Amino acid sequence: MATSAFSAVADIRYHETSLSTSRLRSLLHSAFADKGYAEEAIAYLAARNATTSNFLGFLLGHFLMRTPDTGYYIILQQTADALFNPFYGPPREVHPYTGTPQENTAIDASIATSPARDGFRRSIGRGSARFFSSQGFRLPRYDRMLKHTPIAILGAGAAGTMTARVLVNAGFLSISVLDQTGRYGGIWNQPNVRGGSKNNPFNFSFEGLYVSEAPGPGETITRFLERVVDPDHSHFSLPLPAVKKAKVLGVEPGDLASHITYSDETGQHILEAPIVINTLGLGKPLAPSRVGVMTTDMPAYEAGIRWQQILDERQARALDGKLLIFTGLGNSTAEMLVQIQRYNQQLGLHIRYKVLTHYPKVALEQPDTTVAWKEKLYHLYRDTRLPQLTRLAGDLAEIERAFTQARDSRYPDCEEIVPEVTHWTITRGNGTKTLVFTQADGSTRSCNFDQLYTLIGYGHRREELDALGLLVTDDYLGSIAYDYDGEIQRAVGAMGRERICPGYFGLGSLLKSPQNPNAQVIPGILFRLSDTLTSVIIRSTEYGLRQRKNRTLVGSPLKPTRRPILVARDADSLLPRRSGDARGELPPPSNIESEIVR
Ligand SMILES: Cc1cc2nc3c(=O)[nH]c(=O)nc-3n(C[C@H](O)[C@H](O)[C@H](O)COP(=O)(O)OP(=O)(O)OC[C@H]3O[C@@H](n4cnc5c(N)ncnc54)[C@H](O)[C@@H]3O)c2cc1C
Repeated sequence: MATSAFSAVADIRYHETSLSTSRLRSLLHSAFADKGYAEEAIAYLAARNATTSNFLGFLLGHFLMRTPDTGYYIILQQTADALFNPFYGPPREVHPYTGTPQENTAIDASIATSPARDGFRRSIGRGSARFFSSQGFRLPRYDRMLKHTPIAILGAGAAGTMTARVLVNAGFLSISVLDQTGRYGGIWNQPNVRGGSKNNPFNFSFEGLYVSEAPGPGETITRFLERVVDPDHSHFSLPLPAVKKAKVLGVEPGDLASHITYSDETGQHILEAPIVINTLGLGKPLAPSRVGVMTTDMPAYEAGIRWQQILDERQARALDGKLLIFTGLGNSTAEMLVQIQRYNQQLGLHIRYKVLTHYPKVALEQPDTTVAWKEKLYHLYRDTRLPQLTRLAGDLAEIERAFTQARDSRYPDCEEIVPEVTHWTITRGNGTKTLVFTQADGSTRSCNFDQLYTLIGYGHRREELDALGLLVTDDYLGSIAYDYDGEIQRAVGAMGRERICPGYFGLGSLLKSPQNPNAQVIPGILFRLSDTLTSVIIRSTEYGLRQRKNRTLVGSPLKPTRRPILVARDADSLLPRRSGDARGELPPPSNIESEIVR
């Protein structure tokens, strides 16, 4: 069905009036059987539509962007067709959606290639959008039931901040936001992130607030998030709830009844909420040893500095003549190279560096091409047409210059990128630290060094994710199982409501996975938000009706989650004890500055 999303929404509004409520209800119920949505909730929303002209159309418009390349899309498409044409037959039995990463990837790709994507959710590739607008979507003004749904947002970074804004604007009145820092903004409040560069390769907009494409200072994103909060009401009329300063220790997901354990200055508490949106972010620096990529026998506390730094002139001068080692060739390392090269040139300093990477030489020589090496494919630069937005931002002139200068240097003692590194370790003696590293051909090299940086990404530990009631799919990266709308899965292979934790959602970098690396950047958050909003409203309706009738809508008593709650009483107890653990990781930025000038 070649139609723009705007006209699809308009068509629903027009045609649905000729559908009986019961027909609309059964169609939508079939469409959402995979989520176990309660039929009464869909009926309730359909009835609201009769009195609030565009409610259902806005709510479901984005679902129609999925094209029918699997059974799941067929059923949605049939629903759409039926809405357009009242004489269309009832949906056929189709293969159910089970929430596998492959299905989610296909849905993201389907939206990205849908002819209906322009205008509503302009997307350039997998799980990434340039644009989010709720188009003035509001809950019906008189609907007290929906408005008062208790919603807890865990984490107030970019994902938590934007989610809070969308829900407040939609009319939800009972939102609690918990963050250990007590403020909105997340990592964009950290001096080493806001003081660095932004790297979004295209302009994006959120509810009418624009951020221009990179290059530019990271501060731009910090300011953008401050405008989303909008304390002086210059853009939005409604205030966001104040952030409660609290550390989340655990979540016990239930069916529209999750229990959040948190601590604040008065002690430990439990909060119950039917809707929980977990946006607890990036987590901690990944363990330094990654099997199949680059391994080390060094524990995390020997892996050096774990976050990019912003060097002022005094710190740069303190590094003059020193040799810095970087393991990992990503944007954080590139950000460091840009600064070092600039100081060397402008101040005549001689800061030396080596970058160790697992990338093969051939991938470094052709950074914007996919190359095969030892039966694996490599592509160093991100491809902004089919975005892998988290790869090296070679499309940005500053990053490309820094990379090529390091790669092509004729003075490897001063600057060098070492490819095909499979293992590294450190030896000490006579007051010197020596890095010993092995390359894929089996050769071993060593060099004395002054400072080590291991900048290879971030993730939550399994223990933390278990405590948050999340199903771990990749131990090393800390990936979890979730549906396309961010709803958390609790049992792989189960069906309908048993498959998920109804009402418990994730958003933002918590959702990053090998299938969806873009979840951790702002365009990835913009992409997912409309699906999350829709499902939050449907789950809120279920909760409200359940409260009203004091019975379970799905015909079964509320079942406790199968996972016991694992409350982490303090951060340390969450840390694994094996080699490569997180105990020695340097905490974010404030302490790092003293480390570097030592
Ligand atoms: C160095 C760096 C540069 C980046 N540059 C870009 C860029 O240019 N463009 C881009 O789009 N993305 C960039 N990113 C990706 C970045 O992850 C996203 O921009 C964005 O910050 C993700 O938001 P989030 O809300 O998921 O996570 P976060 O910003 O990490 O927010 C998570 C929040 O949860 C809170 N929290 C965590 N644990 C707990 C707990 N147990 N209890 C209570 N609160 C808790 C934290 O305090 C934090 O406020 C960059 C990331 C890094 C590390």
